[in-house]
Amino acid sequence: MTTTESPLPVPAVALRSEEEIAARVKALEAIMIEKGIMTTEAVDRLAGIYENEVGPHLGAKVIAKAWTDPEFRERLLADGTAACEELGIGGMQGEDMTAVENTDTVHNVITCTLCSCYPWPVLGLPPNWYKAPAYRSRIVREPRKVLREDFGLDIPESVEIRVWDSSAELRYFVLPRRPEGTEDLPEDQLAELVTRDSMIGVGRPLHPGAA
Ligand code: FE
Repeated sequence: MTTTESPLPVPAVALRSEEEIAARVKALEAIMIEKGIMTTEAVDRLAGIYENEVGPHLGAKVIAKAWTDPEFRERLLADGTAACEELGIGGMQGEDMTAVENTDTVHNVITCTLCSCYPWPVLGLPPNWYKAPAYRSRIVREPRKVLREDFGLDIPESVEIRVWDSSAELRYFVLPRRPEGTEDLPEDQLAELVTRDSMIGVGRPLHPGAA
């Protein structure tokens, strides 16, 4: 490429509808299959994995273990990717995962301001709103307001809100606070309380009995 070429126009990605995106994905898939880069079976298998096998239930296992095993919690906060690997959780879009811990004084929330980077191995595929420009821009500027108005999550003024911007290199997820009254619950029942939204930071874990 020479420097005399005019720059490519910036695509209006944010303005594409779900239908347009689906059409483009189909087109790319068709080209890749035609060129022998992928097979239909491989595409179906990959889609199946991320639709049925990988999801927030895996992240919930990680969180429940961190709630019950202080040494695992330490390792999780020190190196999220390695700690998840201990539980056999890892892979595409999870090469570098970092867990950020909610406390009495800090509430964490994740986004990707640039596109939709997200830790797939622990959370599955991102929800549509996570990819929407409205969430990505507003959660940075006015997180307290967005959490309250869009997600019904009231964070007291006394609690600092930290917004983490994931990228292709580093993907965050939230270690929520363990709900009160769960001291006697075993790890597998604790995992049932951990919601996807609580690991994004736009919700809280369920209370026992509500799972
Ligand atoms: Fe991104």
